Amino acid sequence: MFDKDHVFIKTARQKELYELARSHAEDFSRRADHYDETGDFPFENFEALKASGYTGLTASEEYGGKNISLYELVLIQEALAQGDGPTTLGIGWHLGIMMDLSLRREWDEETFKALCRRVINDKHIVNRAATEQGTGSPTRGGKPATEAGKEHDGWRVTGHKTFTTLAPVADEFIVTASMKDSDDVGGFLVNRHLDGVSFEETWDTLGMRATRSDDLFLKNVKIPPDAFVERIGWQDKNHLPPGWLLHIPACYIGIALAARRDVIDFAANYQPNSLDHPIKDLQHVQQKIGAIELELMKARYMMYGVAEQWDRDPERRPHLGPELSAVKYTATNAAVKAVDLAMRVVGGTSIFRSKPFERYYRDVRAGIHNPPSDDAVLSILGKRGFQES
Ligand SMILES: Cc1cc2nc3c(=O)[nH]c(=O)nc-3n(C[C@H](O)[C@H](O)[C@H](O)COP(=O)(O)OP(=O)(O)OC[C@H]3O[C@@H](n4cnc5c(N)ncnc54)[C@H](O)[C@@H]3O)c2cc1C
Repeated sequence: MFDKDHVFIKTARQKELYELARSHAEDFSRRADHYDETGDFPFENFEALKASGYTGLTASEEYGGKNISLYELVLIQEALAQGDGPTTLGIGWHLGIMMDLSLRREWDEETFKALCRRVINDKHIVNRAATEQGTGSPTRGGKPATEAGKEHDGWRVTGHKTFTTLAPVADEFIVTASMKDSDDVGGFLVNRHLDGVSFEETWDTLGMRATRSDDLFLKNVKIPPDAFVERIGWQDKNHLPPGWLLHIPACYIGIALAARRDVIDFAANYQPNSLDHPIKDLQHVQQKIGAIELELMKARYMMYGVAEQWDRDPERRPHLGPELSAVKYTATNAAVKAVDLAMRVVGGTSIFRSKPFERYYRDVRAGIHNPPSDDAVLSILGKRGFQES
């Protein structure tokens, strides 16, 4: 099912982490079709990830986590996605957020420590709920209609978030809200069991169905003072671009690698009676497989290269924003192209639900709409081009 000689595995620890992700992927792949078809949430996958310690891998080591590197994160997420894309994207938000918080240390230390403890000991899962109908992607800078009002013993938050991945399973959400009586936007840590928190199953989508990115409603939710965890824009304080978002390209490359694996298997075994050899020997098939290889090679070398640079050279991290964005652009577009080519090789049966290709096709489409969008990436790169000229 997986590469025998994974060229990006360089250490014993990477091998161990990869094997963990690979064994989960093999397990999850058996039910990926079922969850795609029903749109139900794959709770058993998340139980398995909690039981193996996968959910604690990026939490801070001093508070019980493993502090894995960005390179290791993309390695495991790419492997996991070869079994189940939606589970991978979902757990990717959680792992990425914990990695980012552990690196930046912008939160009050006691609050952060308590969150790490809950992630490690109580197996809590966290996600960010930032998108709203009125703002669209929060990366565009729109102000949330969700509002937080200060009270003498905490805050009251009211609002409605869309695209809330992991809605059925996340224990805590970092919810963005405009702060009443000021222009500021804050991030508030909200436990799903608080009074006034509810969900609506709106996630009836083409792809990434099992992420269950449903709507989250907050109706006059009372939260304690220490749940106001960050002021949005805080990320700029230490000038770090979001390295953790590489979990997104890793996921979509993983889905495309699954398509590549399956198309190679198909081409090696499919022999219509008009031929005296399998279709793998046809020149046009080899050209298409070659084009898939090229797309994935470009995306993977770029992703692993940038992740390695991030890990190796902390001084350069503040300058890696354009590279990180370019990896996302390259990987998600390469994934769309590779799955499309795989389906052209397989032919008409690729659109049958009994084959996985149409699921890969639908899932990789979603990657285009994860941040940053293509136009934003090109603007970033364009600006850098002019700065350097
Ligand atoms: C599978 C999946 C999982 C997700 N999970 C989460 C999650 O867990 N938490 C979360 O908060 N969000 C999540 N999101 C939401 C995601 O981050 C985006 O907010 C969402 O997809 C909407 O962004 P958009 O660019 O697609 O649409 P919009 O922002 O609504 O934009 C629609 C169109 O208008 C253009 N546009 C809009 N505003 C501007 C502007 N100012 N300048 C130029 N062009 C503009 C866009 O380019 C696009 O063409 C998820 C999305 C997907 C697909």
